[in-house]
Amino acid sequence: MRDYKDLFYQSSGAFGPIGTLMMLVFGAAAAATVGAVYGALTYWIPFVYLNFFGTIGLGLAAGGAVYLGAVFGKVRNTTVSGLGGVVAGLAALWGAWVVWIYVVTADADTGVILLSPASIWRAMGVIGAHGVWSIGRSSSTPVSGTTLYVVWVIEALIVLGVSAFISHVFMVRKPFCERCNSWVNRKNSLPKLSPPEDASTLDGLDDGDISGILTLEGNPMGSMHLQVDLQACRTCDEMHLMSISAVVESRNDKGEKETSTSCLLKNMRLSAADYQALLAFKGAAPASPPVPAPAPTPAAAVDPQSPPGPEA
Ligand SMILES: [Zn+2]
Repeated sequence: MRDYKDLFYQSSGAFGPIGTLMMLVFGAAAAATVGAVYGALTYWIPFVYLNFFGTIGLGLAAGGAVYLGAVFGKVRNTTVSGLGGVVAGLAALWGAWVVWIYVVTADADTGVILLSPASIWRAMGVIGAHGVWSIGRSSSTPVSGTTLYVVWVIEALIVLGVSAFISHVFMVRKPFCERCNSWVNRKNSLPKLSPPEDASTLDGLDDGDISGILTLEGNPMGSMHLQVDLQACRTCDEMHLMSISAVVESRNDKGEKETSTSCLLKNMRLSAADYQALLAFKGAAPASPPVPAPAPTPAAAVDPQSPPGPEA
C-alpha cells in the first residue's frame, strides 16, 4: 500500500494575514447585517418557535459569510475559518441586539441606539428584568428573568455553534492547489456505476490503481450505485483528485424517495492519464449473456468473396 500522504490530498493548512483579515471583515460585516434584520424580525414576529428557525438561519448566514470570505482570502486552515465563524457569530449577535434594543425602545418611547457591547449588556439586564414577549398566544405574561436569560443564552449558542460549524466543515471539503495558489476549480461526475459484484475488484485503489473502476457497468438498475467525482486544477492541469461514494436509494413509509450517501474514498490523487481515462469513462457495457450461434441461412451460406455472376 502506498503512503497515505502520497495517495490522498491533504490540506496545507496555510493562511495569510491579509486573506484572514479579508475573511474576518467580510464575514463579520455580512453577519452583522443579517443579524440586524434578524433583530428587527424577532421583535415584529415575537413567536418563539418561529424565532428558533430564524436563529439557525442567522448562524447559517454568518458561517456562510465566513466561508465566502475564506474562499476569497484563500484561508485553507479550518481552525482559523472555524474561529472566523465564532467572530462572525458574535458580529451577528451584536447586529441583532443593536437593532432589537432600538425597536424595543422605539416602541415604548424614543429609540435608543447602543453600539458598545458593554452598554448592550447592561440594557439586556434591564430589559430582561421586565420581560418582553410571551410564549404562546393565550399567555399575556411576559417572559422575564432567568427564563428569558436562558433563552438568550441558547439563542447565542445556536448562532455561534452553527456559524463555527459551517465555516469549519465547508472549508474541510475544498481542495487547494498550492502550486497555482488557487482553489481546485474543475469538477466532473461520472455516470452512476454499478457496485462491483466481486468486492476485491476495487482492491487496487489501495495502491492508486483505478483499473477496477473501469470495469464497472454504467446505468445500474438496482437501488445502489457508486458515484465517482473528479476534481482538477484548471490552471496547471497537474492536480487531479477522485472521490467515491456509495449511494443507496430507498423509499420510506410514505413512499418518498430517500437517498443515503456514504463516502468510500475522499480526494485520492490521480495521474493525468488516469484522470483523462476516468473523465472519458461512461461505464462498461453490461456483460451480455451468451447468445446461441444463429443457424446458417442461405444468404449467410453465400461466400461474400465469390466473383460476380456471368450476367454482370
Ligand atoms: Zn494548479
